[in-house]
Amino acid sequence: MNIVIFGPPGAGKGTQANNLVKEFNLNKVSTGDLLRKEIKKKTKLGIDIENIINKGKLVSDEIINKLLENISSKKENHNRLIFDGYPRKLSQVKNLDKMLNKHNQKISCVLSLNVNLDIVIKRILGREICSECGLTFNKFFNPANKENHKCDSKFLQKRTDDNEEIVKNRYDTYSKETLPILKYYQNQNLLYEIEGKGEIATIYEEIRRIIRSLETWLYNV
Ligand code: AMP
Repeated sequence: MNIVIFGPPGAGKGTQANNLVKEFNLNKVSTGDLLRKEIKKKTKLGIDIENIINKGKLVSDEIINKLLENISSKKENHNRLIFDGYPRKLSQVKNLDKMLNKHNQKISCVLSLNVNLDIVIKRILGREICSECGLTFNKFFNPANKENHKCDSKFLQKRTDDNEEIVKNRYDTYSKETLPILKYYQNQNLLYEIEGKGEIATIYEEIRRIIRSLETWLYNV
């Protein structure tokens, strides 16, 4: 099955997508991660991307399409994709459909994590990402420790766009550009809305319940 996971910044999309990857043997496609990889290369394109991200705006479709080239054609990704942070606007919804159609695939379900701006700000201000293993922690709600993190704490870093001002812009962009596309998926009966303000494990229980019920349904048709 192919899954899309939606939510404002700090909703926990990446964390929950990683849980799904592990349990359901999926491959995650995070356009945010792909863009940050490009920034690290310090190319002209990387610098342009960083400027846009640090304003809390969306990067152009042209750049995003380039980064996603060949993803759905790979055999190992066939019906195994989970999209985190993509699509983010209507033109991307259309591109995704086109990309999957070309390889006889489709979206099986769309998960939307609902979180308000106050929670988003609290979560974003505590977020730390390990530059070695890529795991995400939160200084206040889910701190890294010896049990959950093998790397040295010196690798824990903050994202440059994780400050209050940029987060407000990112939340605004999400509300204006991304939220309207949920209607498109709702009309196709693909949308599952999930309360995203609780504990990571509790939210994941709800998500896995949805995916398990879909799996049963998919295998029985
Ligand atoms: P994320 O890691 O998903 O929070 O994304 C971080 C930032 O990367 C966003 O605030 C956008 O500026 C940019 N970005 C990520 N995914 C997309 C996308 N699908 N379309 C346009 N911009 C994106």
